[in-house]
Amino acid sequence: FSPIHVVGGGLAGSEAAWQIANAGVPVTLHEMRPERSTDAHQTDGLAELVCSNSFRSDDAEQNAVGLLHQEMRRLNSLVMQAADGAQVPAGGALAVDRGAFSAAVTAALEAHPLVTIERAEIAGLPPEAWDSVIVATGPLTSPALAEAVRAVTGEGELAFFDAIAPIVHADSIDMSVAWRQSRYDKVGPGGTGADYVNCPMTREQYEAFVAGLVAGDKVSFKEWEATTPYFDGCLPVEVMAERGPETLRHGPMKPMGLTNAHQPEIKAYAVVQLRQDNALGTLYNMVGFQTKLRHAEQVRLFRTIPGLENAEFARLGGLHRNTYLHSPKLLDPTLRLKAQPRLRFAGQITGCEGYVESAAVGLMAGRFAAGERLGRAFAPPPVTTALGALLGHITGGHLSVEGEGPKSYQPMNVNFGLFPPVEGALRLPDGSRPRGAQKAAVKKRMLTDRARADLAAWMGGS
Ligand code: FAD
Repeated sequence: FSPIHVVGGGLAGSEAAWQIANAGVPVTLHEMRPERSTDAHQTDGLAELVCSNSFRSDDAEQNAVGLLHQEMRRLNSLVMQAADGAQVPAGGALAVDRGAFSAAVTAALEAHPLVTIERAEIAGLPPEAWDSVIVATGPLTSPALAEAVRAVTGEGELAFFDAIAPIVHADSIDMSVAWRQSRYDKVGPGGTGADYVNCPMTREQYEAFVAGLVAGDKVSFKEWEATTPYFDGCLPVEVMAERGPETLRHGPMKPMGLTNAHQPEIKAYAVVQLRQDNALGTLYNMVGFQTKLRHAEQVRLFRTIPGLENAEFARLGGLHRNTYLHSPKLLDPTLRLKAQPRLRFAGQITGCEGYVESAAVGLMAGRFAAGERLGRAFAPPPVTTALGALLGHITGGHLSVEGEGPKSYQPMNVNFGLFPPVEGALRLPDGSRPRGAQKAAVKKRMLTDRARADLAAWMGGS
């Protein structure tokens, strides 16, 4: 076989190369460090963790990322093998000694007879002669390659920043306070006139909220983030609040064209709108609420919004440097670029978020590419598994707003909102109905049990 080329030796590229080589296919891994580095990397090791040393929860029954760990271990993941070997104590989380972790990944790939590692930047589109390429160059893809990818995908389909608004689990919104309605009952393509969830505010609530935004504890910009002009068109909500007490009421929180279904006689002074975020309808994003507020501050402040008092957040808001594609539009179900199927994408550049998720997408891309080379198609994992749910987010489950490019596609960690809901009533192991706080735990248990059963069936059949 001629080799498959993997560009980028980070979390996704290292895992993809391992999966390809273990399928019996030669692979060349191209990593630009140390010849050229990024603003965040410090070493020349493969799979360097650029920030935290945590792979987050390792609980495979109650946590979606813990379930993803378990699925990756079952599929012989190098990243999970190295993480387990480099573990440091961190309660229920899987945290690692970052040096030992990166060294283990590097050593395993260097020792594999089917892996060649080349240390050079791919400073443009990979050569035409490479018929199967995985681009896994991450959130800090080098500018020359990013520009070349943008030329293929089209202006506006590759983002250089994520301006992320918080995303809420739909079933945690209090619909006895909030109501569904599109502004002026407008029916858009595929819409019903009731596409948004609206949370009303009185004048007192609005003023207290704006004061809270202004006073709130914010994350400061890193020097290289602050120098990039990405503020146009996606101002953080707290920056809008700082511009004057009325700014938000004339912007994303305007009450016009909305009538409170619970109290039609009372005109809301301001309204927070949430828009459906995934095809399943389990997640809603807070429209216009991109923010640099610290996570704990976001939870505290956004739970003061009427209807969101008990909101559970699938992800919190943020603004970061991040190169990522408008994947639901551009990629096919096996992560190939529709416009140039010889190019596959993996890792954070596809719009997943996090070390584990990036490695998981690398795992799938590696298996897809190797299967193609061997003439044995690798069927995508079922959407009820953590791997399949993540793939679904990237390749199509997400609702893209036409014309908004990556702006309407928000990078996301794996979470239970990406899984199809479990069918039927919630049951405890003894068959009885769970009560109160038990319900959430039982739901997660049912989702993870179903995922394990479906992964086993899929592995048996693939
Ligand atoms: P990377 O791990 O970044 O790997 C990409 C690789 O490609 C790099 O080694 C790079 O040198 C190489 N490369 C780039 N361009 C080229 C080129 N043209 N030719 C050859 N090689 C190239 N996630 C978490 O879970 N926890 C965190 O704490 C966390 N902190 C983060 C902090 C920052 C500052 C950033 C930017 C991201 C952070 N992330 C974090 C998000 C993300 O999960 C990680 O960035 C993760 O490493 C992404 O994996 P990846 O394989 O897609 O990219």
